[in-house]
Amino acid sequence: MFRSFLSTSISGRAVSAGLISVNLVNFRDFGKGSYRQLDDYAFGSGGMLFAAPQLKDALDSVSNGGAKPFVVYPSPQGVLITQEIIETLFRQEHVIILCGHYEGIDERFARRYVDLEVSVGDCVLTGGEIPAMMIADAMARLVPGVVGRQKAVIEDSFYRGMLDNPNYTRPAVWEGEKVPEVLLSGNAGEISRWRRKIAASRTISRRPDLLSRASIREYIPGGVRTAFILKDGNASFSGVPELCSTYELGRPYVIARSRELREKAKQIFPQAKVLAGIRELSDKEDLTVKVFTGARANSMHSLEVKRRCLEHDGRVIFVFAEDEAELEGLDGIAGYLYEHETDIPLNMKAGIALDKFLGKR
Ligand code: SAM
Repeated sequence: MFRSFLSTSISGRAVSAGLISVNLVNFRDFGKGSYRQLDDYAFGSGGMLFAAPQLKDALDSVSNGGAKPFVVYPSPQGVLITQEIIETLFRQEHVIILCGHYEGIDERFARRYVDLEVSVGDCVLTGGEIPAMMIADAMARLVPGVVGRQKAVIEDSFYRGMLDNPNYTRPAVWEGEKVPEVLLSGNAGEISRWRRKIAASRTISRRPDLLSRASIREYIPGGVRTAFILKDGNASFSGVPELCSTYELGRPYVIARSRELREKAKQIFPQAKVLAGIRELSDKEDLTVKVFTGARANSMHSLEVKRRCLEHDGRVIFVFAEDEAELEGLDGIAGYLYEHETDIPLNMKAGIALDKFLGKR
């Protein structure tokens, strides 16, 4: 089964170019007794099961004394596979994929030696070989040089958590249907905006579940800014500049009523744009997301906040306040961190919110 996978198409070329190496281990070599037995009757159900001692011998034979191998067992009872899981596996030095058969493997072996059980979908296959090839193929695509255009990998569905945009090729008109005009315009900026917008609306309509895990920042057409409303006293501001740079949020706004506090804010955070009042913050084109720690009347679930941000053409500004009563009078939508009210410093509030609304799971 593996021969054609390892010798043809993109995976085959990656193997022959030495970009990936796959070592196949024939479990049959580890059989015990005169029948070279690998499996036995499952207690209770009577189905056939791969036995733990033989599995352990096979595992030991490929544990090469280097970094501890990461053992993946494809199983319908595992967590559903995602691109994030593939990326996690890709970061491991040595991955072993164990292909089950019949009823599967002895649970004691799974508990002791399997690092991750993954399912390739809610259906049952006869063996783990196809899932193993699928995992190896998805990992191989991440190796630079395996896919001709590495940029394509980043733009594909799921890499950033969203679906890809639809694609078209020549002829520009086919059966009376024309390729979207913007794609023929040659305007790179317009094309890129169109691609992101359509990728976002596809994700919302086809796979809204993905939104909870997607990093949406790059898909917000007008970009994202943050604003922090300080109140007199010691503003908990440490780490905020780093937070803004981690999420590539550019210059944040800092709003402080007293001149003294504004001066202090400029010292702590020289990159910030310091304002005296909330009214100077946004114009009509902006969507303001007021971040509260607890849910309140009219506040939106984080998925709805994300959807509104994606559908908004202008800038999105996430606003945090030390005293949340200050947010009440501001126009915009309200998002919350927890169902219950909680007292946490401004910098932590911002960290949690940015991860919740903009971070990738
Ligand atoms: N008794 C198992 C159950 O119901 O959970 C099913 C075993 S299945 C017939 C045999 C082998 O195929 C499994 O050990 C696993 O390696 C592989 N397999 C089957 N379906 C799979 C899926 N959806 N994802 C990953 N591996 C699967």
